[in-house]
Amino acid sequence: MTDLTAWKKEGILAPVSQLIPVTRDKKTSLPPHYTQQLVTIVGLKTTTARFMPVSHEGDSNETYVDKVDNLRGVSRAEFIARKLKATERRAHMRLFREMTEKETGKEWQTTFQNWFKIPCEIPNGLCTVCWNDSLFGSLEAGKGATFSRARYFDTYSIESSNDCVAQTGSEEGMAVGNTVGEDLAKGRGDASLHYYEYVKAGTHFPFITIIESPTLLDIAGLLHAITLADLHGHGKYSANHGKFETEVWAVSTGVPRFSILNMLDWAADGVDSLRDRFISKGERPLFEAPSGGTPLTLWEAEIDTLRGELTNTFKEYISLL
Ligand SMILES: [Zn+2]
Repeated sequence: MTDLTAWKKEGILAPVSQLIPVTRDKKTSLPPHYTQQLVTIVGLKTTTARFMPVSHEGDSNETYVDKVDNLRGVSRAEFIARKLKATERRAHMRLFREMTEKETGKEWQTTFQNWFKIPCEIPNGLCTVCWNDSLFGSLEAGKGATFSRARYFDTYSIESSNDCVAQTGSEEGMAVGNTVGEDLAKGRGDASLHYYEYVKAGTHFPFITIIESPTLLDIAGLLHAITLADLHGHGKYSANHGKFETEVWAVSTGVPRFSILNMLDWAADGVDSLRDRFISKGERPLFEAPSGGTPLTLWEAEIDTLRGELTNTFKEYISLL
């Protein structure tokens, strides 16, 4: 029972056709249909280029990547949930603008103005009513907020930061770049150089993302947004850095009976031992339905059926606006 028909039958996904349009301040929206169900997406992100997870101020001309000491016995690079979410949210926004243009044949700004009375933009021009605000949450000063239905978790490198971070004392050492304000007419001195640590290509970060009261559009949209975010780049200097490849191993209608920390433990003998847990037909990690019963879980290639639903579900959604 892993095909989508079963998912739709079980009432786990809020059917887009049952979302009830609401018009407030001349804005029409489809507020979430609170099914009290959820969907968990689990997988592995692998850096394909230098990655700079930075959530703190560095020294004036040095940047250090986020690290944690002794997490399950290993020092690791840290990739915080807030940053992962922000990049995927922006990718989601771009994706839906593109789909809007494709479906309507008009510039997205015009269409958004029609639908939402504002071309929804991050961070200060959120419309509070579109698919993006509904999924990731939004705030309109003085008018209220919508809560995020997407839950992200901090994650950590499977590899030790001693091995996966280029830093002082590592084989590669810190990288050297120019400071932004460098005066090219002058000779180069220390002040014109910027030193930075980075996570090396080939480093692995397991991830778990949960969507509450999901529609099929939420899930299909997020699966595509993950891929786009990987190409766009995560972390600091994401124009050139922070590219990833993501394997999605499981999408389940249950809550995971395991955490990121368990996933790190399962990878103690290498990434393959973690991967085997999800992609082999042997002992697979447990998901538990929030309201009892057996959750439905799609594994690896089966997940493509969810991705494939994007265009049709989007058409259905906009036909209601
Ligand atoms: Zn919006």
